[in-house]
Amino acid sequence: MNAELELGLERRIGKRSAAVIEKHLGVTTVGGLLNYFPRRYLSRGELTPINEVPLDEEVTLIARVISNSTRSMRARRGSLTDVVITDDAGSPGSATASTGLPGTLKVSFFNGFRAKAELQPGRRAMFSGKVTRYGGSLGLTNPDFLLLDEDPDTPGMDPEKLAAMPIPVYPATAKLTSWSIQKVISTLLDTLELDSLGDPLPAEIASREKFLPVADAYRLIHAPQTPADWQRARDRFRYQEALVLQSALARRRAQLAAEEATARRPAADGLLAAFDRQLPFTLTAGQAAVGKTLSEELALDSPMNRLLQGEVGSGKTIVALRAMLQVVDAGGQAALLAPTEVLAAQHFDSIRRTLGPLSRDGLLGGLGPDSVQVTLLTGSMPTAARKQAMLDAAAGTAGIVIGTHALLSENVSFYDLGLIVVDEQHRFGVEQRDALRSKANKPPHLLVMTATPIPRTVAMTVFGDLETSVLDELPAGRAPISTHVVGLAEHPAWATRIWSRSREEIDAGHQVYVVCPKIGTDDDGDFTPGEAEPTDADLAETGARELASVTGVVEQLRDEPALAGVPVAPLHGRQDPVLKSETMASFTANRTKLLVSTTVIEVGVDVHNATLMVILDADRFGISQLHQLRGRVGRGGLPGTCLLVTTLEPGHPSRRRLDAVAATTDGFELSQEDLKLRREGDILGASQSGGRSTLKLLRVLEHEDVIARARQDAQVIVGADPDLAGHAGLAAAIDEYLNPEKEAFLERG
Ligand code: ADP
Ligand code: MG
Repeated sequence: MNAELELGLERRIGKRSAAVIEKHLGVTTVGGLLNYFPRRYLSRGELTPINEVPLDEEVTLIARVISNSTRSMRARRGSLTDVVITDDAGSPGSATASTGLPGTLKVSFFNGFRAKAELQPGRRAMFSGKVTRYGGSLGLTNPDFLLLDEDPDTPGMDPEKLAAMPIPVYPATAKLTSWSIQKVISTLLDTLELDSLGDPLPAEIASREKFLPVADAYRLIHAPQTPADWQRARDRFRYQEALVLQSALARRRAQLAAEEATARRPAADGLLAAFDRQLPFTLTAGQAAVGKTLSEELALDSPMNRLLQGEVGSGKTIVALRAMLQVVDAGGQAALLAPTEVLAAQHFDSIRRTLGPLSRDGLLGGLGPDSVQVTLLTGSMPTAARKQAMLDAAAGTAGIVIGTHALLSENVSFYDLGLIVVDEQHRFGVEQRDALRSKANKPPHLLVMTATPIPRTVAMTVFGDLETSVLDELPAGRAPISTHVVGLAEHPAWATRIWSRSREEIDAGHQVYVVCPKIGTDDDGDFTPGEAEPTDADLAETGARELASVTGVVEQLRDEPALAGVPVAPLHGRQDPVLKSETMASFTANRTKLLVSTTVIEVGVDVHNATLMVILDADRFGISQLHQLRGRVGRGGLPGTCLLVTTLEPGHPSRRRLDAVAATTDGFELSQEDLKLRREGDILGASQSGGRSTLKLLRVLEHEDVIARARQDAQVIVGADPDLAGHAGLAAAIDEYLNPEKEAFLERG
């Protein structure tokens, strides 16, 4: 079909250039290089004088390098390269810039190897980035830059046109500049029969959207004459990217739906009915509605594939349990997969408690109509107990099996696995979901639950193969959580006030969580950074500070007068599993009053009596992690308080995250905020298979409308032509687009 795109690069640009491109960019085909799009475009006409750079805005400036120095950072691994630049426009007395010298500006790069190598004193370059402030003065962090010394003045060109002509900036490396990439691509464009390229977009769509023909789009994205040129080209490729991705997902959805599952119809008067009769509260409207959807889908002979999103505390577990009971009523088994041992054990306890007399402990054997055996299966169980649990799963005596990834191990089997519930999906990869799926004789029904609210488009993209339900209200009587940022930089005295505040809670009969970013005091290896990437903020932070650690804080609290006599216990991932569950049990039983832990308590843990959560060095955690954490308090009808403790100065960029968390308890709002602060690759990469996102032009938050339109189109296309036999161009683009890793992600299952 598009044989031209698969052609080796050397056939079009020569052996030498092809070798250079392969070495530095890893690109070997014509299509690969054609689709190596500029990251952004700079324009000579939009230059900002250094003396006038405005805070928090995107600026482009041309400047000369005065100095370049690099030092390693103490607080975390990496180096910081500081470059001072000037546009030679400084007038004496206007000391606006971060260097204190007129007409100069400090530009900082985190791990800026290319900046270190290229931005030598005397070089001219164009910089483009957002103006930030730290330590009271303005500067640029990690801006794009383009060395200008090679800029060939295009002779005879109208200066006004030249000023408007966009300069493409390619993702470059230290050895291969954007400028060189542009030259090679321009050679490629000259030697290609661009007009003979097939178009992966169906003609109806191209004309409906008034897209440029594919050949023109390639020309204009790489060599635009005006900003409108690259914008039109980019719109087309962005849509194409969305359509290819959504078609791949639609195809997988169609394949999943075409599989045959065992229908698990509700029983007239079974366990589920008995359970509903004994439920001590009424279901929320959302729980009832989602419950109805699940019940209907379980009764079909095609597998349910559903994502259930709901705020922390929205009552997802009951919804899942009711689905499990319907499956058990129909003679099948249900498995509940939890991300940690602590959580699995807790689910096991709370589900048995919730079931009350409907739960049976395995002594009777055989499937009874009036009770169900709930079995726990985790890696840390004593061998004999684990063997028994495995036997019960295999023989079908266990109706509900709750476990960690130990459930995925090869020697675990089921008699008739009808439903898999995956709790807190963000900890599980698709591979693990599929490993469990393969344990059923026929494709089982699948319910994935996540407490991290996911914006619609992310759900469409990351969980595009699942249908989505949302629980958007909390059960009545839920007490509010108030969150406060405790800034130790301004109020050092609050460092001890935290502990007297904890004492007040404990004296009132309640319990306290203290969360630390680290386990031990002197090793850095166990740092749990959460979603926190090195951000611009880290650049500003050069002073090393010892982060709060579980062992360090436990030690410190021993001598804390306010907490004299209070039972304190540590909990972290490196402890022996038996000790961990004992610690949890002691906390649940209200013997331990104050629990010092890492984020092991992040998900699902449910101790109603806990009312205060103190998060130390809270700036070390990501927004959604903080939101998850605080959801651990305020669960038992008692108002909850969350203290976000930080030593950062007010106004520090990382403190903005804390302010955002303190400002709202709306998880969806927070997750939008969170995603804005993170990079796209992290969103998709982490939730898929750990690989990097290969999305080039599509931004899941920004391009909601594009994604939604493409999803609609993809559904229509795949609905009418499931094998894409009549859409060879699109099918080829899907194959080409999905790298092997992604393909595995989409095809397995
Ligand atoms: P999630 O898993 O969504 O964070 P849970 O399922 O753990 O939430 O529910 C949190 C708490 O709310 C549990 O103690 C549960 O028993 C309780 N709960 C669930 N549904 C209701 C309801 N409709 N009314 C009152 N309490 C409820
Ligand atoms: Mg839960």
